[in-house]
Amino acid sequence: MSPQTNAHRPERSFAIIGHPVGHSLSPLLYETAFRQLGLPHTYERIDVPSDLLAARIPEFRATLAGFNVTIPHKHSIIQFLDAVSEEAQSVGAVNTVVNKDGRLVGYNTDIDGIIASLKPVVGSTRRMYAVLLGAGGSARAVLHVLTRILQISSVTIVARSASQMKQLVRDFDGAQTRLITIPFSSAALSEAIRSSSILINTTPIGMHPHILDCPLDATIQFPEGLAVFDLIYRPMRTVLLQRASAAGCATIGGLEMLLHQGKRAFELYTGKELPLDSVRDQLVRSLSAEEASHPQ
Ligand code: NAP
Repeated sequence: MSPQTNAHRPERSFAIIGHPVGHSLSPLLYETAFRQLGLPHTYERIDVPSDLLAARIPEFRATLAGFNVTIPHKHSIIQFLDAVSEEAQSVGAVNTVVNKDGRLVGYNTDIDGIIASLKPVVGSTRRMYAVLLGAGGSARAVLHVLTRILQISSVTIVARSASQMKQLVRDFDGAQTRLITIPFSSAALSEAIRSSSILINTTPIGMHPHILDCPLDATIQFPEGLAVFDLIYRPMRTVLLQRASAAGCATIGGLEMLLHQGKRAFELYTGKELPLDSVRDQLVRSLSAEEASHPQ
């Protein structure tokens, strides 16, 4: 689907919709970019519990030029949209909705955020072995990138729900990539990490306020050459990333994914390029101030 924008309209309202959305960094991301580019648009948080989502759609259609979608609506929003991009359909999740003259069109820009985050460590090789922690919404977007876009050699999915893992294998099998599933408690986890080139955490373990938690127990060793990508951006350096760095691994925090999914959504909303560096500076300043006020 070719993106169209409403860039000709002077002042428009945007929002993030989720439950809860109180801590979302999206308002700061978009407001910084609007200010930097001299755009008069607004961006707000709208807290919508799941049972009220259907009832609020007509209001969003009438008042918002676009909106981001977060937990728990990324999948359930699809039924209310007039069109959904092929990628979002294939992942089964939408995080960006553009209102095109009353038609609500859904995209998944998390995919762009994941590709940009992995770019520095993936390079051009497909011979990569990944371990993926978690089997929820963002694990689906990561699997889409690993199996259908990068087409790497294998992904070992590690989660506590066997049925969720089975579903992922059903949905993402058939491509070039071999999919293996193991439970979190398995002794095989240590072996899988030892022989992998990238470890990706899509669980919220280690996220604020539980910043001392780590999805892997202390006995698990990180092999030389492993790259570790943690989708969490609050804190910017999770315990998982600190341990990986200490072992000499390349690390990628969730802030780059947040920035790059926002960059793509901003282009869909405004037709303009997000001023990435100044938005990154602003988000890092805000997260650093927050971390300084909640020391470990
Ligand atoms: P989700 O759909 O709720 O999925 C979370 C996954 O983690 C599920 O498989 C869940 O398993 C598992 N999990 C949760 N707690 C666990 C525990 N204690 N032990 C083992 N597994 C556990 O959430 P999501 O939307 O994928 O988001 C996950 C994380 O990614 C969050 O931290 C979010 O902030 C981050 N994220 C970052 C970005 C970014 O731009 N950087 C974008 C999206 C998401 P169960 O189903 O068994 O509970």
